[in-house]
Amino acid sequence: MPDYVELHCHTNYSMLDGASHPEDLLDRALELGMDRMAVTDHDGLYGAVRFYQGALQRGIEPIIGAELTMDGGYHLMLLAENDQGYSNLSRLISHAQLSHSKGEASLPFAALAQHKEGLICLSGCSRGEIASHLLAHREREALEAAQRYLHLFGRGSFFLELQHHLLEEDQRLIRMLLDLAQHLGVQYVATNDVHYARRQGHRLHDVLSCIANHTTLDEAGSLLRANSEYYLKSPQEMEGLFSHLPQALANTRAIAERCHVDLNFSTHRLPPFELPPGETAGSYLRRLCLQGVERKYPSVTDRVLKQLDHELGVIDRTGLSEYFLIVWDICSYAHERGIPAQGRGSAANSLAAYLLDITRVDPIAHNLLFERFLSEEANTMPDIDVDFSTDHREEVIEYVYDKYGEEHTAMVCNVVTFRARSAVRDVGKTLGFPLPLLDQVAKALDTRRASQVEEDLERVNGLADKTTHLPWRQLIELCREIDSFPRHLSIHVGGMIITARPLVEIAPLERATMPGRVVVQFNKDDVEDLGLIKIDLLSLRTLSLIYEALEMIKEHRGVRLDLENIPLDDPVVYDMLCRADTIGTFQVESRAQAQTLPRMRPQTFEDIVVEVALIRPGPLQGNMVHPYLRRRAGLEEVTYPHPALEPALAETMGVIIFQEQILKVAMIFAGFTPGEADQLRRAISRSRSREAMEKLRGRFVEGALSKGLEEEAAQTVFDQLAGFAEFGFCKSHAAAFARTAYETLYLKAYYPAEFFCALLNAQPMGFYSPAVVVGDAKRHGVRILPVDVNRSRARCIVENGHLRLGFSYVDSLGKSSLEVLEEAGREGPYYSLRDFCQRTRLPRRSVENLVLVGAMDGWSKARRELIWELGTLSYQEGEMDLSPPLEEIHLPELTLDEEIKAEYGILGLPVGEQIIALHRPRLERLGVERSKDLERRHNGERVRVAGLVVVRQRPPTAKGFVFITMEDEDGLMNVIVKPDVYQRYYKVLRNCFLLIVEGTIQKQSGILNVLAEGAVGI
Ligand SMILES: [Zn+2]
Ligand SMILES: [Zn+2]
Repeated sequence: MPDYVELHCHTNYSMLDGASHPEDLLDRALELGMDRMAVTDHDGLYGAVRFYQGALQRGIEPIIGAELTMDGGYHLMLLAENDQGYSNLSRLISHAQLSHSKGEASLPFAALAQHKEGLICLSGCSRGEIASHLLAHREREALEAAQRYLHLFGRGSFFLELQHHLLEEDQRLIRMLLDLAQHLGVQYVATNDVHYARRQGHRLHDVLSCIANHTTLDEAGSLLRANSEYYLKSPQEMEGLFSHLPQALANTRAIAERCHVDLNFSTHRLPPFELPPGETAGSYLRRLCLQGVERKYPSVTDRVLKQLDHELGVIDRTGLSEYFLIVWDICSYAHERGIPAQGRGSAANSLAAYLLDITRVDPIAHNLLFERFLSEEANTMPDIDVDFSTDHREEVIEYVYDKYGEEHTAMVCNVVTFRARSAVRDVGKTLGFPLPLLDQVAKALDTRRASQVEEDLERVNGLADKTTHLPWRQLIELCREIDSFPRHLSIHVGGMIITARPLVEIAPLERATMPGRVVVQFNKDDVEDLGLIKIDLLSLRTLSLIYEALEMIKEHRGVRLDLENIPLDDPVVYDMLCRADTIGTFQVESRAQAQTLPRMRPQTFEDIVVEVALIRPGPLQGNMVHPYLRRRAGLEEVTYPHPALEPALAETMGVIIFQEQILKVAMIFAGFTPGEADQLRRAISRSRSREAMEKLRGRFVEGALSKGLEEEAAQTVFDQLAGFAEFGFCKSHAAAFARTAYETLYLKAYYPAEFFCALLNAQPMGFYSPAVVVGDAKRHGVRILPVDVNRSRARCIVENGHLRLGFSYVDSLGKSSLEVLEEAGREGPYYSLRDFCQRTRLPRRSVENLVLVGAMDGWSKARRELIWELGTLSYQEGEMDLSPPLEEIHLPELTLDEEIKAEYGILGLPVGEQIIALHRPRLERLGVERSKDLERRHNGERVRVAGLVVVRQRPPTAKGFVFITMEDEDGLMNVIVKPDVYQRYYKVLRNCFLLIVEGTIQKQSGILNVLAEGAVGI
């Protein structure tokens, strides 16, 4: 059997120049009986970790390399022979990337000299320097180039690369390269410059090339590869092409067998932490934790000390003491400056983290499970996620950069992939569809998966019967293929890695879009797989909101509210939850939450923890919500999948809700150690293949049998775990978020003016628009005061217990205008329009907007008169003609209609009446009811309701059902639309913002919905 190893292979991480996922290429390699293969994407190792892991899983030895772009645009292949070669490759790629602007990587030849150790160099494809010269009949330049590379890498590590794609020039080029090889005594090797796993991949590859070059398939011409020979070929096929050159094939194996890289950096992961004299990381960490015990547990229990000992032992043995110290140091930096900071996620399972003030939830009190965060057996590293207030996060990140240095600090990247809309737009363009049509189609898509656009397309106006036509079939098919292909890199929201060894030796770095920021070419999964440690420094707007609300409470009421010590059993807060009075609060405000709270009726803080974890796509899908709620209401008996599981599941009435419970179940039921149990959880939630799942099932069932349990029960329990694990929520995270949720509820209950004011200043955030927020504020007795040039500031403020809108809500007032207003306002009140214009010199449109929303009503002139007066001031190059107006005139006030429209149009929210008030007389004639009157209606009664659409959702888990939340003068109401009704009234339901809906009342457990039967726009 012929022998061949592919050494030149592009995955779809070659960003628009590779048409197969790494796994597809590896699967094909396996089918072809290859035991080794290289990954060589352009100017990066973006796909290397995924390829590496996938190869090992398939028993294939991975070879890590890259095809670099050299100065002059030439291609050059580098393969890492060993770990040093890998580091050098990473350095070279970083050099190529960082010395140029984003996306323009290029490496000077001279840079190779310092970092060539451990690298094997192949001369590259037809765009290689030597091949390019030969093809252009520049034999002397080709010879010189070959000599240069030979000199640099030596005879053992430099190979001329021969490729045969059945093109006219191939034979000629191979002959010339062979001549050169003979002349210089250089070795040569065959590769196929693979760009897709199978021949049919060429079609998608052409499309990708067109996307990269902003052209269409019809116009691309020579930009496309001339044929479809760039697929992964079998050894037999390669032998057919190179039968006269057995050495070219033999060398593929010779090179492959030299290459071995171990991608495990766990021993280099953290820089040493600066310690007080005489301390080790472990002893210092213990000291800090014990100080925490004193502060947080006035009466220390054995349980606390025992748990602390256990955790510190595990932390020490896993070598993570420094990690804790580094995060502690970052949080301390924030705490000392009054920057809100709090850990979320699985770290909140740790008592040590709580004692170090990294997290705020007491894991002892909440019965949390440390092993969900960290265990000795786990071979992956934990990560600690910390939220900072949005306004201060940059400051914290700067601190980390300063402290550990740029060589050792970078942000993790996020690979942006093709989704439904981007796929339809980009693929559609290459197929020559007109842009306006693609725009229309893309906007009509509800799904985010590119593989699922077909159903949505059929609903687009006038397309219903056309999607069977060939161009549309092609579009749908190609979208399916391109689904989740990498498109470009962006920065991960908060993931930072800090390493002891300079980062460039571990991961290639490149520029982020944000000036001065650098990202590694690995995403968060890659970083985890490499054994590196990531710290997530995230931003949470709610923390900014809380911070500002507390400041305002201090300023206006002289109250220093200490949220750390508010009672967690305040009945007022629980009453709000039970009535779903939660707009603007954290985590419990969404439509789905509002629909559950009245059924759930939370009575304790633990109930809020469950509520936060329960109402998410996962449990809904895993069919957990309804059993739990029924059991809670006493409508269903509390049972356990197996009696043995009662201790693990009693807290949630026999239903699995928390990830920690998966661990507990695996430990109790199948005898797993905590570490094994967490590995099981991870494996289930990340594994996509059936096979891997079956293997896990085998281990689980075996464990259960050895504990004397029945096989059938074990199978059933495993099915439940598997159905749940992918979406499960960790309890510690739910508890951390529940705490923040509670605080926002508390603020809303007792300090509504400050709460709503801070909420408006923190926009955009949360589930609802500012318009809904002010409606809710009014219903909570907070008066909304209009923007006023003599009273407002840039941000909203609290004024005598009322909420004064800020200038930032006025459309067309940008950052510089806001600064001007703040500045000019300090010189005292404006006494006239003329005075205002003279002092601020704002553009006419901005002044007009201010007039229209009543910001100048203080001068007792009708808004219409002010607009007229503004027209008499001539604006020229910032100069104003200040001669007095020709005559005084009197114009009528704006009508209510004009006023409301101006408010919605310019402020995006109503200061006075809600917009439905305008239409009320007509709606009354049509028999439309107000939302507050619906309570009196009975189940099944027909009603007509009308409102402004504030939320429109079509969740993927809802089988085509659409949920619409509408607002009228009195509040919100929920409308459910069945799929067939949605199809029938699609145009109105999807596009109109003011709706009249006819339907029947559905009342259940205190929740009221209108089941729509028809709809018209107002
Ligand atoms: Zn190339
Ligand atoms: Zn290539």
